[in-house]
Amino acid sequence: MRTAAVIGGGASGMMAAITAAEAGARVILLEHKDRIGKKILSTGNGRCNFTNIHQEPICYHSEDPLFPWRVVSRFGARDAVSFFLQLGVYSKNRNGYLYPNSDQASAVLDALRMELRRLSVEIRTETHCSEIIPGKKGFRIHTDKGTVSADRVILCAGSRAAPSTGSDGSGYDLAKRLGHRMVPVLPALVQLKCGESFFKQIAGVRANGTVSIWADGECLARDTGEIQLTGYGISGIPVFQVSRYAAQALYEKKAVAAELDFMPDFTKEQMQAFLKARASARPGKSAEEFLIGLFHKKLSDLWVRLSGITRTKCAGKFTEEEIHKLCCLIKCFRVTVSGTNSFDQAQVCRGGIDTTEVDPETLESRLVPGLYFAGEILDVDGMCGGYNLQWAWSSGYVAGRNAAG
Ligand SMILES: Cc1cc2nc3c(=O)[nH]c(=O)nc-3n(C[C@H](O)[C@H](O)[C@H](O)COP(=O)(O)OP(=O)(O)OC[C@H]3O[C@@H](n4cnc5c(N)ncnc54)[C@H](O)[C@@H]3O)c2cc1C
Repeated sequence: MRTAAVIGGGASGMMAAITAAEAGARVILLEHKDRIGKKILSTGNGRCNFTNIHQEPICYHSEDPLFPWRVVSRFGARDAVSFFLQLGVYSKNRNGYLYPNSDQASAVLDALRMELRRLSVEIRTETHCSEIIPGKKGFRIHTDKGTVSADRVILCAGSRAAPSTGSDGSGYDLAKRLGHRMVPVLPALVQLKCGESFFKQIAGVRANGTVSIWADGECLARDTGEIQLTGYGISGIPVFQVSRYAAQALYEKKAVAAELDFMPDFTKEQMQAFLKARASARPGKSAEEFLIGLFHKKLSDLWVRLSGITRTKCAGKFTEEEIHKLCCLIKCFRVTVSGTNSFDQAQVCRGGIDTTEVDPETLESRLVPGLYFAGEILDVDGMCGGYNLQWAWSSGYVAGRNAAG
């Protein structure tokens, strides 16, 4: 019987271990934390958005753009839903985002742990792996608890995101020592820090809008949804979705800006006409009262100040230019992006092991036969919405099956 050692007991490692054990391998799961699956517990605000029914290649990113989809199409969202159903986890659908019916991330983790136990996977926690040594007859893995021998190794040690859950980047070192190249690892699905001092004034405001990321005059990405304004900058799902592009541009030392459009359903011309009509309909309202009922008071106060309009000036006396200034602030509110929040706050990382050195059919290393990869350690990151866990399930399945086969 072939022995497969899985390094890392996160979502991808557990899936790889289950699949390899089902395919007949003896499986040893090595995890340096005191328990497996810590990150799963914090996913989806404790509810675990474990996949999404809307699946397209563009939901997954990599320097090698075709790579993720080749893997996901082997074990997709439907497969993940049936897999969890077999383990007793029914799913709840919220606009295509799937959660366990109990709305508890612990249900997903418990189901995986029970399955690992049923398949007699040997779980060794508090075991840190420091080196993988390939030999003529399989591998030796150096750990702080001694050496582990295995015919196959599946490296599922995660990225550097949320390191308190165990993914401290040590998996990258294991791969690098074996000659694997890395695509620079940067925080993604993360908040953006902005340079302007007025953010303290508008902290706590949430508003629907579109956020676009600009670098050196080029628009890199755009997303719409609820934007959260914070004391340090911007957050919320649309900001998370575009953060990977901002992180890369900042890494390339480009000047990065975010443009916020707080009225995305209107063109600039429509907005200008709308403000003009509003001013004519309510000529006696002062500038500070003019936008009440349309936008959060903290935001409209800021815009009036930035537009240079005197707060007490009546709307009926606004000049064309003043209305134009307000319109530009509402439609193209440009702020400087000075950085991302750290890996501690990031949900995932962009970058990782260069996938051109990994076979997408099997997830086996092209450099070290018998070594497989799964999960976030690879240069693959998904959009927010269940795609990163789907990547963990898909890649864990493909690596586990081939490592055992
Ligand atoms: C707050 C938060 C919320 C999220 N919400 C969602 C969501 O709702 N939906 C979604 O799809 N995605 C979500 N994600 C992303 C998703 O959780 C991850 O992409 C996914 O869990 C990654 O799985 P993984 O197995 O690749 O890595 P990890 O889960 O990070 O697992 C890696 C494991 O390897 C262990 N390890 C690392 N190095 C070593 C070593 N040297 N020796 C031994 N063990 C080692 C670690 O301790 C860890 O247990 C969220 C992430 C965060 C942080």
